[in-house]
Amino acid sequence: MQYDDLVPRFLTYIKVETRSDEESTTVPSTQSQVDFLKTLAAELNQIGLTDVHVSAPSGYVFATLPSNLDRQVPTIGFISHVDTADFNGQDIHPQIVENYDGHSVIPLDPAGKYVLDPKVFPNLLNYAGQTLITTDGSTLLGSDDKSGVAEIMTAMAYLTAHPEVKHGTIKVGLGPDEEIGTGADHFDVQDFGADFAYTVDGGPLGQLEYETFNAADGRVHITGTNVHPGSAKDTMVNANQLAIDFHNALPEHDRPEKTARREGFFHLYKMSGDVDTADLSYIIRDHDRQQFEDRKRLFAGIADRLNAKYGDQTVQVTLKDQYYNMREIIEKDMSVVELAKKAMTELGIKPDIAPVRGGTDGSKISFLGLPTPNIFAGGENMHGRFEFVSEQTMAKATDVILKMIQLNAEQA
Ligand SMILES: [Zn+2]
Repeated sequence: MQYDDLVPRFLTYIKVETRSDEESTTVPSTQSQVDFLKTLAAELNQIGLTDVHVSAPSGYVFATLPSNLDRQVPTIGFISHVDTADFNGQDIHPQIVENYDGHSVIPLDPAGKYVLDPKVFPNLLNYAGQTLITTDGSTLLGSDDKSGVAEIMTAMAYLTAHPEVKHGTIKVGLGPDEEIGTGADHFDVQDFGADFAYTVDGGPLGQLEYETFNAADGRVHITGTNVHPGSAKDTMVNANQLAIDFHNALPEHDRPEKTARREGFFHLYKMSGDVDTADLSYIIRDHDRQQFEDRKRLFAGIADRLNAKYGDQTVQVTLKDQYYNMREIIEKDMSVVELAKKAMTELGIKPDIAPVRGGTDGSKISFLGLPTPNIFAGGENMHGRFEFVSEQTMAKATDVILKMIQLNAEQA
């Protein structure tokens, strides 16, 4: 369908700076998100949703579209995030490329330093004849996930403007801090009140995700014994050397740059050290829960072996689970995935199902008791200046939201 209010809504949203901040100790992490969520709450009220409120302590804005059926059907929730990634999000000047020919290079900045070139980004080939919204090369676009916000909002506006369309109770959740991985930590499933939900936060047309990594953070702190190198024999314990030994004891192939699909990894993302002390920071990832547990055991076991040689507490390991593969939850009742598949298929969209090599807000929310797969919102090349989104894909995501609501209402 064509929605006249969809693109204007999106363009209004992306012009508001709402970057999250990993260093912040507040929830939400930035005031700009709090302010933007307030304007979205006002818009939800104005559209005609009820019980619009900020859910403490998460900072999410929750709203309800009451059922217009005379019988009970499951309550569906739609969730997206308002923060943008760790890239300049100030003064976003979107460019609109109408009827893209599907092969030309699209200049972004006036000087032509940054371009969208199909040779570099072959995904552009999928967009012949469509209207693309790009950046001007100096910022990200914010399609992740203001596309999702605009699509959910537009679907709700459609339903309140068309009371003849039958639907059950719909819940909307717009929240902060997805990009820094903390937004869903405080999500109040009880307050939200849905039976199942979808994050509208995926990429290209058809994307449907219900499998994510299991994830842990692993820290290694090494304490050495620093003596003069000239008289170090059998005395010095060089923390730097032990850090190298630790890393080399991990499986050589299991790194992000050498793995794909369902292969897990250890990723050394930060290191510092001198002879006295050294610190290594890793993320540990695996889709399979058993292999994930094995990876953590292996990680801790390396420290044990080094400690047996150099003394207790020489190598200290701290492991912290971050999120789990939502498949564990979703698999118990696949109807939430089936509904999305059916909606897409009926709309002529081929569902594109693949395991996410990462997590989604839904990974955490699913484990809090609300099954929440992820569907496409349309963004491409997210988190940087090459981000773009197609108007037609955004409209299709809105179609999918409405179709799922309709199919759910028709359930006996
Ligand atoms: Zn996102």
